[in-house]
Amino acid sequence: MRSLPIPTLQAREVFETCISRVRNPNLRTRLQAVAALVEQEAANFEASVRAGTMHAVSQQGVLNGDVLAEEMEKVYTNRMAKADTPGRPIYDALLAAPAYGRCPLCNQRTVSTLDHQLPKTTHSALVVAPLNLVPACKDCNTTKLDKLPASAAEVTLHPYFDNVETVTWLKARVHRTTPAAVEFYVERPDTWDNVLAERVETHFTLFKLAALYASHAAEELAGQQFILAQLHATSGGTGVQEHLRDQAITRRNVQLNSWQTACYAALAEDDWYCDGGFRVL
Ligand SMILES: [Zn+2]
Repeated sequence: MRSLPIPTLQAREVFETCISRVRNPNLRTRLQAVAALVEQEAANFEASVRAGTMHAVSQQGVLNGDVLAEEMEKVYTNRMAKADTPGRPIYDALLAAPAYGRCPLCNQRTVSTLDHQLPKTTHSALVVAPLNLVPACKDCNTTKLDKLPASAAEVTLHPYFDNVETVTWLKARVHRTTPAAVEFYVERPDTWDNVLAERVETHFTLFKLAALYASHAAEELAGQQFILAQLHATSGGTGVQEHLRDQAITRRNVQLNSWQTACYAALAEDDWYCDGGFRVL
């Protein structure tokens, strides 16, 4: 998971921009009338996320007894996500936030959509609230879909508010198979409280990150075989280990909890791997 800067756009302003070209006078009046509620619910959402109580944010259906949830969903779908609409530049700006276009939820695949932290089907006032919109890859967005957390521990990490990049928590272990395999897991740091530890585990499990990272690591290991065999021929297991340690440091300097950092750190400290376990045959 990677953190992102908190968007500075205000929910009400975004909502009013999105509805600025509504032609139907009746719909336009009704939508304009819920702008204050949109602002209020966005502020409530932010306070809840900061307090660790996002799971307790009340569901909203019909707003002001007047605007249907379906009508609010269309504000997002037809007036923000759609090309050439007033909200689309805002959509694009939110989408462009992650470095290298990398999905902050899985830290692997490419961003292609905005994910609603609280679903638009259940939280109609938050359909275009910037803090509820997180850039994501299609797979992460589909995996999460309309799942609602039932407790604080079930709240997945929020890239705008959660920063788990200051301490190592992503670890890997080597399986001494042919070819060797790497398994990824979460190791709870001492500084985490129970809720954060459970949330990271929830996030890791829900988005199926162990399988995703193992698959990429398998490809990486295959690509390292030639250089490792050469190093082993000239300087033995020690040469291989030094190379792998350098790789781990190189990756760690970029990001503490990438699968690459965890992978190389585990490989470097596995004597079996360094002494020839890297071979396919
Ligand atoms: Zn993703």
